[in-house]
Amino acid sequence: MFEEQIQMVDLHGQYLRFKEEIDAAMQHVIDNCAFINGPQVKTFSAHLGEYLRIPYVIPCGNGTDALQIALMALELEPGDEVILPAFTYIAAAEVVALLGLTPVLVDVDPRTFNIDPQKIEAAVSERTRAIIAVHLFGQSCEMEKIMALADAYHLYVIEDNAQSIGAEYTFPDGRVQKAGTIGHIGITSFFPSKPLACYGDGGALMTQDEALATRIRMIANHGQECKYHHKRIGCNSRLDTLQAAILDVKLKHITAFTEARRKVAAHYDETLAACEQFVLPVRSPFSTHVYHQYTIQVKDANRDALQGLLKERGIPSMVYYPLPVHHQEAYGSISRISGSLDVATRLCESVLSLPIHTEMPIEQQQYITETLVEASSKLALK
Ligand SMILES: *Cc1c(COP(=O)(O)O)cnc(C)c1O
Repeated sequence: MFEEQIQMVDLHGQYLRFKEEIDAAMQHVIDNCAFINGPQVKTFSAHLGEYLRIPYVIPCGNGTDALQIALMALELEPGDEVILPAFTYIAAAEVVALLGLTPVLVDVDPRTFNIDPQKIEAAVSERTRAIIAVHLFGQSCEMEKIMALADAYHLYVIEDNAQSIGAEYTFPDGRVQKAGTIGHIGITSFFPSKPLACYGDGGALMTQDEALATRIRMIANHGQECKYHHKRIGCNSRLDTLQAAILDVKLKHITAFTEARRKVAAHYDETLAACEQFVLPVRSPFSTHVYHQYTIQVKDANRDALQGLLKERGIPSMVYYPLPVHHQEAYGSISRISGSLDVATRLCESVLSLPIHTEMPIEQQQYITETLVEASSKLALK
């Protein structure tokens, strides 16, 4: 029906639009052969710092490494507890467990999918040292409340901003800050489908704190203070020069990318508003939304039926995420569960993410929403 099949994310279409710029940037790196720590790594990091309005950006190999390096930089001790949401990508729980720390799982807010700040306080114990605030699907967590709790209990805050780079958080007093720059350390991922993405793996950490920045830089580089002098246990986590060159091109267009996804989201909002079978994603009053995902909740256990129906019509959709952290085989028994995690569990049964990206023709959007409207009335009749 369409020239191009409908995709969750159209990486190739986006590449074609910026092909000349991206090809030239890659060719330049290859001509110079500075594949590791070439000048583009520094340039991109500086540009990202300017965009986010934060003084220290430290690039690394991927978002999961960034989370691990962040926790290492905070010098937590085995057995210390780290609070994180039960409904999220696994990376946060994984690195916490890998470092011998205990994940403490807290339920999320069903309207925003993000950790529920009202439920964090009850999870704090003698051993709690940090909170990982994951900004899921494109919106910032309620940072003012999270930072106030962190202050009161002397906790560190790591913001996992892999999905929400560019989102702006507004404090109750009117101050506006980019998500990922509010806590002690922010991290992001440049995985190809993320809002700011390269053509392979990549990630970064950001902080306002010079001492933390120095420690982070050292840890990501084998714990070296200077070459062959290893001051602390580190790891080897670098952003390739080629990836940095690609990212520097894409960063110039990030506002246009975000706008393109917002337009698709606005179309979904408008055309699906009357579908009683669907709960549409809420726009938080305190955060802008960069729509890494447009995630609906499908009522009455109809999610899988809807997904099947869309598939028959050539419309892909994804379940982010099918299992909450406490139901994951590796993490259920080693985590401490704080309170009821019913919202997280319910979301895993009802969420469905629809195609959204920077290259969606209006005809595709209309076809998807017409199919959804029709499906909604069918499901309701059942
Ligand atoms: C993608 C993602 C990560 C991990 O990033 P990688 O670069 O794949 O290691 C971590 N947290 C969240 C929320 C993510 O979406």
